[in-house]
Amino acid sequence: MSILSRIDDKHVPLYRVMWVAATPHFCGEEDCMREGCYEVRLEQGESIWANAADNDRLITQLELWQGGLGPPDAGDDEAAW
Ligand SMILES: [Zn+2]
Repeated sequence: MSILSRIDDKHVPLYRVMWVAATPHFCGEEDCMREGCYEVRLEQGESIWANAADNDRLITQLELWQGGLGPPDAGDDEAAW
């Protein structure tokens, strides 16, 4: 399984996601470009915005994700650090 999730025009590694908004953004501003989008908070205070389909997929991936940085490379063990 990939540890990257496609959000907007980016592939985001799951381990960078701090939290995902449970409700879509609404601020009442008439020209708001993010209405109906879900805020996805990344490390270092960066936020990106997912549409409903991206958000659903991201949450599914996060639930399936077992943590870590992905499958270990063959022949790579912790002693090598
Ligand atoms: Zn807004």
